[in-house]
Amino acid sequence: MLEDIRKLVKRTLDGGKVDGVLALWRENGRVGPHLFVKGDDVSTLEIDPKYNLAAVAILALASGVKKIALIGRGCDERALVELFKRYQIDEDAIEFIGMACSAEQAQACECDIPYPTEIRFGEKVKGVVPPELEDLTEMSLDERFAYWRDVFAKCIKCYGCKNACPVCVCQDCVLEDPMWVKKGEIPPEFPMFHLIRAYHMVDRCVHCYECEEACPMGIPLTLLYRQLRQDMKELFDYLPGASDAKPPLTTVLEDEKLEEGA
Ligand code: SF4
Ligand code: SF4
Ligand code: SF4
Repeated sequence: MLEDIRKLVKRTLDGGKVDGVLALWRENGRVGPHLFVKGDDVSTLEIDPKYNLAAVAILALASGVKKIALIGRGCDERALVELFKRYQIDEDAIEFIGMACSAEQAQACECDIPYPTEIRFGEKVKGVVPPELEDLTEMSLDERFAYWRDVFAKCIKCYGCKNACPVCVCQDCVLEDPMWVKKGEIPPEFPMFHLIRAYHMVDRCVHCYECEEACPMGIPLTLLYRQLRQDMKELFDYLPGASDAKPPLTTVLEDEKLEEGA
């Protein structure tokens, strides 16, 4: 698969329809993001480990290039879809080239949709449901509250989860506003800190696992966000990143007139 992707990237660059191809490359023994341009040595291109390339695309486009191709995974595509909707990236500026994740990767991310809508490379494998999710849904509300209170007691308020998230794009973050989150308080007030973030993620979390991977305290953040995604699907028939449908929580008041006294 890797060789085929390298060949496609070379052809894409030679074709001249994009200014560059955003992918991973190996340099000095390390793998990181790179915008390949015509003439670059594509034998340095890599596809592992997973990387948050949707977030890097914002930076690449801000540097002045007009159009790029992006070699990405299912979660990159989902993140891009949300970033298009939120006017962070112009949809016409990206040509997405999707690859499916392996069963091992899906397991590592506890991912329910480990593939993009159009798979150019790799093969679709089954999504994963973490057993803890079922345990949680069987708990009473009081038990669930106690579970999250205990888990979030480990939080050191490092903001790693927020910084790693490809769809956390607000210029002014409420979590950094002392009106909502007291400075110097560790762990942050429960449930306020995590409730605020969960509320902001409810119609945008694309399940990319970046937050959980970034958390130095091993907090199972995606368990919470996965539950939110399920609730959004059930209540609003909306799955963030799955389509260009408008986010329901931010559009209801625009589209529907409130009844007097409502
Ligand atoms: S979150 Fe899903 S799509 Fe993204 S890297 Fe993991 S398995 Fe692949
Ligand atoms: S899984 Fe975490 S990092 Fe990824 S979109 Fe959801 S909240 Fe953000
Ligand atoms: S990454 Fe983990 S420890 Fe850091 S703020 Fe987020 S939940 Fe808390």
